[in-house]
Amino acid sequence: MKTILCIVCPNGCRLRAEKSAEGEGYDISGNKCKRGVDFATAEITNPTRTLTTTVRTSFPGFPVLPVRTAGEIPKGKIREAMNCLNAITVSRPLGIGEIVAENILGLGVDVIVTSNILKETVWTLIINSAVISPTLPPALSATFPSITKTEHD
Ligand code: SF4
Repeated sequence: MKTILCIVCPNGCRLRAEKSAEGEGYDISGNKCKRGVDFATAEITNPTRTLTTTVRTSFPGFPVLPVRTAGEIPKGKIREAMNCLNAITVSRPLGIGEIVAENILGLGVDVIVTSNILKETVWTLIINSAVISPTLPPALSATFPSITKTEHD
């Protein structure tokens, strides 16, 4: 018998999974709802997780940008996905929902940005500087050297 903590909702049911008497599938108990059965079955056969992490940026004021996978990926691929994301440096002011890595590891899942802080701050600085001067001041150019391309493009 396997014991699995259900993480689908805050109830945190302690699930028990036993090979069914017929030899196919599992009998799940300890669940307060059907989602627990689906979760336990997936945990045994193909556990998946949403990967939430950060990627580097080229913006000195924002060294990292929060990202997550747009869906779940196999638990066994998390380390490989992290290695892939560690090789990325964002050099455009991306915002929520914009793609940092498309179809990561060929798993059919994109990695997307989960915060607007970089985008909003960069564009606020640019707009404010444009009101004062039509050209980007040297100090701002140095702070945000490459707002038009990413190394991932
Ligand atoms: S079994 Fe249902 S109620 Fe229990 S933790 Fe999982 S989702 Fe929540």
